[in-house]
Amino acid sequence: MTPVIGWRFWKIRRTSRDCNLWLRSVIRNELWPPMERFEAHGSSYKEVSQRGSPPEANSTSGIYAHKTSRHALENLDRCWCRGIFLGKVKLWGVIQKHQFGYRAQFAYPLSLHLGICCVCKRIINLKSEPFAIGWATLYITESFSVSGFLCERCNERYYSVDTESSYRELIQLTERYCIKIE
Ligand SMILES: [Zn+2]
Repeated sequence: MTPVIGWRFWKIRRTSRDCNLWLRSVIRNELWPPMERFEAHGSSYKEVSQRGSPPEANSTSGIYAHKTSRHALENLDRCWCRGIFLGKVKLWGVIQKHQFGYRAQFAYPLSLHLGICCVCKRIINLKSEPFAIGWATLYITESFSVSGFLCERCNERYYSVDTESSYRELIQLTERYCIKIE
């Protein structure tokens, strides 16, 4: 079966111990493993897929993706959009199609395109615009650092993070996952 290409948002996280960079789901606290397929973990979803029938229309499990980047951006929840990244995702397995997107059984990221400034919410093109990634370490619930993605203006005004090292960090992430910045 030909995989479907969709668009979705991720956060990025850094392991405090070895500084590896991870993609994380925005709403659920789920890390996407590099070079491995990401699987929908909802229990109802598992039961359904074991029965071999597609996910129920009213079930909330599965990996969500939008059909287009425009639709993904139009549906940004303004509360949790700060500091997240938009990219393409490959979907396969059992796929439920919706008017504006998909819910799939398996997925793997393909590319990162846009980042949203965590201060002013401006949308930054990762390939053509300068940006910075600041890190705050939280040891409360998990040993991961939380990233702050910044546009050039907010970085200059509030943080002065080195933009070249931020770009290198993002390259490190994309190489780890074998994905592209487009
Ligand atoms: Zn900004």
